[in-house]
Amino acid sequence: MFADPVPGLLARATSLLEAEFAALPSFEPAGDPAEMARILEITAKKLGDNYPYFHPLYAGQMLKPPHPLARAAYALAMTLNPNNHARDGGRASSQMEIEAVGHIAAIFGWEEFLGHLTSGGTFANLEALWVAGRVAAGRRGDFRVVGSAQAHYTHRRISAILQLPYTEIAADSYGRMSLEALEAELRKGDVGTVVATLGSTATGAVDPLDGILELRRRYGFRIHADAAYGGYFRLIPDALDEAARRAFVALPEADSIVIDPHKHGLQPYGCGCVLFRDPAVGRFYKHDSPYTYFTSSQLHLGEISLECSRAGASAVALWATHQLLPLTPGGEFAHGLACCHAAALELDRRLRRDGRFEALVAGGPELDIVVWKLPAPTAAEASARAQKLFAACAARGLHLALVQLPQSWFGLGRDTQRIGQQGLVTCLRSVLMKPEHEAWMDSMWERFTAASAEVLEGRD
Ligand SMILES: *Cc1c(COP(=O)(O)O)cnc(C)c1O
Repeated sequence: MFADPVPGLLARATSLLEAEFAALPSFEPAGDPAEMARILEITAKKLGDNYPYFHPLYAGQMLKPPHPLARAAYALAMTLNPNNHARDGGRASSQMEIEAVGHIAAIFGWEEFLGHLTSGGTFANLEALWVAGRVAAGRRGDFRVVGSAQAHYTHRRISAILQLPYTEIAADSYGRMSLEALEAELRKGDVGTVVATLGSTATGAVDPLDGILELRRRYGFRIHADAAYGGYFRLIPDALDEAARRAFVALPEADSIVIDPHKHGLQPYGCGCVLFRDPAVGRFYKHDSPYTYFTSSQLHLGEISLECSRAGASAVALWATHQLLPLTPGGEFAHGLACCHAAALELDRRLRRDGRFEALVAGGPELDIVVWKLPAPTAAEASARAQKLFAACAARGLHLALVQLPQSWFGLGRDTQRIGQQGLVTCLRSVLMKPEHEAWMDSMWERFTAASAEVLEGRD
């Protein structure tokens, strides 16, 4: 499979960590080692019932393997299992969180900001919209939240939880928010927050944030940038197409940004991040907890977070990863993102050149997600063929994903349409979020063309 450096790294670091606590009298932790080993063997067998997410031939859903250093640092922190709710629960890991969040904010050029890690992007977006609702309540009472038809499905649900009305804005045939449709909603005068998606989950579409900023000057509203998946591409704006480049350059102008280290940031799950441009929004979080804040006069992360207990290990893993791979333009991490983008462009080029598939009429991938439709007389047949090709690729060890998209994006029907159940077609989707995908393209393509021959021409 691969030579996993984690057990070796971990053994050495664990003995160093133990030495930090050598002054304590020793004790035996609970659990029979032989019995634990037996159960772990069964566990390993059970875990085999998964797609090989770690392998370059897994190019399906948005799953990026954590860096070996992140895995080792996370496991090392598990010796202590710190809780970043308060410094009492995680002194070193709270400090690491503050530093690591600062590294992320620096991608956007933010020095004075409020931010922290969360359990994931959904909770980070919840906090951003919660603050947006509180700001609206204090200001003019413009509560309505709007997001594109391709915004993450949780925004509507989050808005419902927060009792904020939510409206979907039509997307163009690339999956980007239509500025005309947005302005039509803004004219109604009650929009408090626009959710701009920089990197949609389905296709990696980038909303025209620069255009949204122009509308903000005229209509006045809060902008929340959901860059859970795409945020790190702010490190390589010049590698992107002009529209995406302009949107990412504008990202620091947003009022809040969500970015997921567990999406593109090489982290284990359980690591999202929310950032607010105005640190004064910290006032909304004020609360009194009687039992957690006694041993330090410094800021507690629990005082600026809606969640209480949070994994300190997430902060430790992220901090360690940033030491190895600093989030700098031109650095190794940024280069990895450029490889992902290049791999997506290459796959899109091959699909278009092949001629048997239908690519997005609006153009190639903006980030590192490629989608394509199978040719067929009807949408139902195209969908069925996509399912078959998905399975035929999997049988050859190449793992892709399926996605439902408007048929009009492939040249059939109107240019702009609301997503409904009607007019959707199942397409193939590949998220090329491992830098290795670029080097593995020939091997992927070989398997893909063999599977295509079977499905489209009945050959094997
Ligand atoms: C993944 C994603 C989310 C949700 O984040 P989780 O970490 O899965 O909770 C929100 N928005 C976008 C654009 C995403 O890609």
